[in-house]
Amino acid sequence: MRIDGKTEVCGLIGNPVEHSLSPFIHNSIAEIMNTNLVYETFLVDKGKLKDSIKGAMALHIKGMNVTVPYKSEVIPCLVKTDKAATSIGAVNTLVYTEEGYVGYNSDLPGLYRAMCSDGIDVKNKEVIIIGAGGVARAASYMCMEYGAAKVFLLNRTLEKAKLLSNEINKAFGKDRMIPMQIDDYQQLEGKKYIVIQATSAGLYPNCDDAPIHDNRFYKMVECGYDLIYNPAETEFMKRTKENGGVAFNGLKMLLFQAVISHELWIGKKIPQEVIDEVYERLMARKA
Ligand code: NAP
Repeated sequence: MRIDGKTEVCGLIGNPVEHSLSPFIHNSIAEIMNTNLVYETFLVDKGKLKDSIKGAMALHIKGMNVTVPYKSEVIPCLVKTDKAATSIGAVNTLVYTEEGYVGYNSDLPGLYRAMCSDGIDVKNKEVIIIGAGGVARAASYMCMEYGAAKVFLLNRTLEKAKLLSNEINKAFGKDRMIPMQIDDYQQLEGKKYIVIQATSAGLYPNCDDAPIHDNRFYKMVECGYDLIYNPAETEFMKRTKENGGVAFNGLKMLLFQAVISHELWIGKKIPQEVIDEVYERLMARKA
């Protein structure tokens, strides 16, 4: 890697940051595209978020990703946020401008591009989302923005599903999202659905876990899209396949949200061959 006086610096702020795959993805993109850009992680201690943004601004850091726990807390530090970030209330990408950082949310379009690249489009479809946490919010807004006919939001804690559904239905003006307690899935039997698995059940090291274990549920799954990418094949994916559905993991979402952030920083589209090569590298790395 060439580092000289003109090297642009980007990075990830959050806490923790040391296990992130973002440096691998962004430095791979920069290397393949021969861009003079380097990507680092920056651990930000509790109470130091504002200072870190001010410092980054003073140092002309070109772009940043923001991760847990600062995706919402960072908003008051910015001069502007894009539509997705404003509606979701979470920012994961900062772009340097002379007036200050502009915030974007690349999780929403990242999930959309990932699903499209796997041949899945939620338009006019009935979708089940399992989970009502941070990533389920992005998935919910994505489904609405891209025209899902209806979304059933299943969550272990019904109250959280209700809160998110009320917010979505208010924003999109129709009763298109229906909150349900996770164990009430029997009410949906008789149809096939795209199912977005947005809980942390099944995440390494709890690989035998799944948000739902009953095979009757998996018979309804036409396409199971698990947002977890470690392990590469989750219990949810295994059961989906065993019951005749197709299944994908969250690695492409991770990749495409990074691609969209990177495109914002360099101001141009990343060619498909570059995306494919980084995906190959990511899979080889995860194997
Ligand atoms: P979060 O805000 O902490 O939400 C966790 C969700 O999982 C909640 O809905 C919680 O239900 C549910 N849950 C946890 N354990 C469960 C269990 N044993 N059974 C049923 N439901 C359970 O987390 P998040 O930020 O949304 O992230 C969720 C997962 O998405 C992460 O583990 C990560 O692997 C994945 N993710 C992937 C990407 C990507 O780019 N591919 C990006 C972000 C996150 P309650 O409300 O009842 O607690």
